[in-house]
Parts: sequence; C-alpha cells; structure tokens
Amino acid sequence: MAFKLPDLPYAFDALEPYVDARTMEIHHGKHHAAYTSNLNNAIAGTPLESLKIEDILANVSKHSTAVRNNGGGYYNHSLFWEVMTPNGGGEPSPSMNIRKAINRDFGSFENFKNEFSTAAATRFGSGWAWLCADANDKLFITSTPNQDNPLMDIADKKGKPVLGLDVWEHAYYLNYQNRRPDYISAFFNIINWQEVATRYNAANEGAVM
Ligand code: MN
Repeated sequence: MAFKLPDLPYAFDALEPYVDARTMEIHHGKHHAAYTSNLNNAIAGTPLESLKIEDILANVSKHSTAVRNNGGGYYNHSLFWEVMTPNGGGEPSPSMNIRKAINRDFGSFENFKNEFSTAAATRFGSGWAWLCADANDKLFITSTPNQDNPLMDIADKKGKPVLGLDVWEHAYYLNYQNRRPDYISAFFNIINWQEVATRYNAANEGAVM
C-alpha cells in the first residue's frame, strides 16, 4: 500500500493573507508530493510497505536516511495542513480540553504562545516547532531539525504532536523573505484549534487527564 498525497482541506488561497496561494501551491503540490513519492520509493519492496507511518517513524533509527527524511516530510505536512484553517485563529475556548491543558501546563495561553513562538524562531536552519502531549497527557513544546518529529525514536523529546509549524524557508520565503518572526505571528491567525483539540483528546486514549 503506497502512501498517498492527501488533498488540501481548503483552496490554495484560503489562508491568505497569512499564507499566500503560490506558497501553498508549491508547498503542497511540489514539496509534500516529493516527500510522498520519495517515501514510497524508499520503502518499495520492504516490510515497511505494510506499516502505518507512525509505526515506521517510531523505529526510524533502524531505517535509511531516505525513510527518515521523507517519512518525516510525509507525516509532518499531512499534519500541518490539518492544523490550519481559514476560520481559525484566536484562542481555544475555555471549555475545550486543550485550553484547560494549556492553562495547566503553561500557566496561560500567552505563555504558551510565547514559548511556541520562541521555539519556532530559534530553530536554526530548517525544521519544525511542535506542541505535543506526553504519555501522561501533559503538554510540552519542542522543535526538531529538518523533517524529524517527536514521534521518532531519535527525537530529543518524544511525544504525540498535536500542533506543528513548518519553519523551512520554503514555507514562508515568497511572502515573508527573511522575516520568520512575522510568519510565526501570522500563523496564530489560522490555527485550527478544533483539530488540535481532537488530536490532543486522541493522543492517549484511555489515559486519565
Ligand atoms: Mn514544508
């Protein structure tokens, strides 16, 4: 079973003015498409073909660099499209589990926003910033280089990603050039908190909050 490039859940221009249509078109149609087909090439004829992407990433240290880079790229972008929405932004409502967990683990939404933005801004070179749930449903922020992510056994801090921000230059350069902090701040206008909440609630099914 080959992995398939997921459709974008909205039009290329839906996230404007925060993310421009041309960037979305290239990012999804070229970058994500290439990670997907390179992943399929890297696992063709191997037992990895029958595994879920999460299970491949969990033991990625045992696989080739091509599986690490392209498997990460496939998973990370699949998550990224889903955690953005043209109807997003603001803060998750006080009644949502994710908001309660943010308040519990960061003290306030503002503290969370600052810590996440700093992680995204200070990731040197290409990579990602993440909000993750650990095995006890506690939230933490981390960042990873290249197309690594916190599901990988090689990650410094392991957990289930519930929100991710791509800080590769290909994600923002056409519109923001070198102004990564402006892109990070714009991202907060298009976060799909409903999707983040769903991912958080599913992160440790059965675990006690
Ligand atoms: Mn990207």
